[in-house]
Amino acid sequence: MARPPAPLVAEVIAIGSEMLFAGRVDTNSSFIAAHLDRFGVPLVAKTIVGDDVATIRKALAIALTRSDFIFLTGGLGPTEDDLTREAASEALGLELVYHPKIVDEIEARFQRLGRKMPEINRRQGYVLETARALENNYGTAPGQYLVFEGRHIFLLPGPPRELRPIVERHLISLLQDLGLRPGARRYFRVAGLPESQADSLISPIYRRYPTIRCTILASPGDIEIYFLADHDGNELQELTAKVAAALGDNVFATEEINLEDAVGRMLAARRATLSVAESCTGGMLGETITRTPGSSAYFLGGVLAYSNALKEQLLDVSPEILAQHGAVSGAAAEAMAQGIRRRTGSDFALSITGIAGPDGGTEEKPVGTVFIGLSDATKTTAHRYQLGGERSLVRLLSVRTALNLLRKELQRNRS
Ligand code: ATP
Ligand code: MG
Repeated sequence: MARPPAPLVAEVIAIGSEMLFAGRVDTNSSFIAAHLDRFGVPLVAKTIVGDDVATIRKALAIALTRSDFIFLTGGLGPTEDDLTREAASEALGLELVYHPKIVDEIEARFQRLGRKMPEINRRQGYVLETARALENNYGTAPGQYLVFEGRHIFLLPGPPRELRPIVERHLISLLQDLGLRPGARRYFRVAGLPESQADSLISPIYRRYPTIRCTILASPGDIEIYFLADHDGNELQELTAKVAAALGDNVFATEEINLEDAVGRMLAARRATLSVAESCTGGMLGETITRTPGSSAYFLGGVLAYSNALKEQLLDVSPEILAQHGAVSGAAAEAMAQGIRRRTGSDFALSITGIAGPDGGTEEKPVGTVFIGLSDATKTTAHRYQLGGERSLVRLLSVRTALNLLRKELQRNRS
């Protein structure tokens, strides 16, 4: 009898010196792992390497000795520190071939933006001689795919929003072509819980189902949880129901949709409008909301009132509130939300005022103290949060928290 073929295994080499910095999370590997896992292909290693040809080359040489699928992510950009193409060429002994058509497409992309393509972008026209270029609809660098001595090798752009569609389009069809069948999958998208807390809520549950694999992808204020099983059976259904109960209203979707899009959908569905009043986030909340295509259907706009004077003039926050409670207070957050709602006539309004740091904290209101106001026709409330991390993280978490507050309100009152 023929021996069954050895199971296929994969590894990821995440490239980019910035990914080695404290606090930077390599989410690309987890994303790729979650997709492979669904087809029963385990990841045997993930390596993070800096922007250095010799280091990348060595990592790839090691990967070639043990993995059937090898993913290199990042370093496909146009600049001097984008070295993945060169390193792969050296490690595999393959030439880089210039494809004028790819550069034409990049040039056309720039032209559509009314800009001239910088000469350095020509570097992105080089493809390994036996590789196929994989179209990148969200950026300039195409991905690359080749089979080398029986190994399937992918070169993928680093930015997750560029990498993910390429993986979804090409990896899944490749795995299917290789005769692998996807197992069943369940997905939860969670906001308002730190990863550690989400995991401690659900790990006692999923540990009891050893045949079901769990992957958690966390970024600030946003967690994705995948459960993967060989088939869609009772166990998976049972587990999913228990996890849903444990996570409660922290779950905002069971499909791949981000928080701002989910909030937008809910507002659009009830034909409601939203405005915002921001202080410490400097416009980031409005920026985030308007990332969603079609947000003009529900988002009216907002006011960025950093100074007390503007909070009074543009948001009708009373001087008494500012004097008594301070600009970073529940009372100010409520007044800001109510002020912008009245001025714009929106159905809902969110406000953010807080201390992003590094200075300005006090014993009573340390750095990371943030008040978020929510106002609608029936009530105005403010919530106090203590957000961890340095300035940029406090600001980012403030935005995620504000969106999540509105999301919960909309989900509670589905009218
Ligand atoms: P670009 O054309 O944007 O330079 P690139 O393919 O060269 O693309 P990198 O320069 O390596 O990619 O990374 C660009 C950005 O993508 C990084 O600053 C980071 O924000 C994000 N990124 C890169 N690698 C990862 C990773 N493994 N996980 C999550 N994000 C990543
Ligand atoms: Mg780059």
